[in-house]
Amino acid sequence: MGPRILVVEDNAKNMKLVRDVLEYAGYEVIEATTGEEGVARAADSAPDLVLMDLQLPGIDGAEALRRLRTVDHRPVPVVAVTAFAMKEDRDRALAAGFDGYLEKPISVRALPEQVGGFLAAGDGAR
Ligand SMILES: [Mg+2]
Repeated sequence: MGPRILVVEDNAKNMKLVRDVLEYAGYEVIEATTGEEGVARAADSAPDLVLMDLQLPGIDGAEALRRLRTVDHRPVPVVAVTAFAMKEDRDRALAAGFDGYLEKPISVRALPEQVGGFLAAGDGAR
């Protein structure tokens, strides 16, 4: 089994797309549909990378990241995923402590390589 990716995404269509693309590329996918669930899965499933939607029901992605960091003793890289295409949103995500940023719509063609890049960057930082 390839690297384990935790996908935190509340939209079922987006989740299916990301899961299908990543599993086809050889990754193992763990799903969470809320920020709270994402924090719990990050703690109990030892992912190698987290893809975190910013707009979620309940706590948002930035708050989920904050909570995840208080319980995570392994510095797992967490990448923000958002439909916001504005540069200030990207800057805000990085300022909030995310390790990277992916824009929706997700590129089916580019996603496996993008995820590989984030994994490699995370290994370098660890
Ligand atoms: Mg969402």
